[in-house]
Amino acid sequence: MKEQGTLSEQVRGSGVEAEMAPRLRALGLKATPQRVLILKELLGRTDHPTAEAIYRAVRSVQPTISFNTVYQTLQALTEKEVINVIRPVVDAARYDPITEVHGHFMCSQCRKIEDELLEDPNLKKMDSDVSGSGKYWVAQRQILWIGLCQGCKGEADRQAGGE
Ligand SMILES: [Zn+2]
Ligand SMILES: [Zn+2]
Repeated sequence: MKEQGTLSEQVRGSGVEAEMAPRLRALGLKATPQRVLILKELLGRTDHPTAEAIYRAVRSVQPTISFNTVYQTLQALTEKEVINVIRPVVDAARYDPITEVHGHFMCSQCRKIEDELLEDPNLKKMDSDVSGSGKYWVAQRQILWIGLCQGCKGEADRQAGGE
């Protein structure tokens, strides 16, 4: 049953949270309270926050934490593939708790990023053709659509309609 459910449910299941410290240690990262706090914050979010946004959130729990700590922790977690990073050309890097290959839609107006989980098995095949080819060491996978979200598109349509 564990394998059922959406990606986000699997990632954000409480079991995953309980396993965070051992998981960090297994990757050779010390499970400091700050690292666990940062990881926990990201695992609870679906909005693909920037480092800045994560910093603002964890600072309210631990006021002494520095932006540098947050940034370096995110870098370390990304390098160990515990989390994922999206680097839209038009915005700051955004972090993602889902590391399995999936797509994103980003609204160029409000900068919202939504997951497109893409269940199509061809996607996994495409990915394994590239990352499993033995030719490369793949650090990032990016499938990104940029445009207007429903809310912003509605707004643009209303303005074009001369309201
Ligand atoms: Zn929008
Ligand atoms: Zn995502």
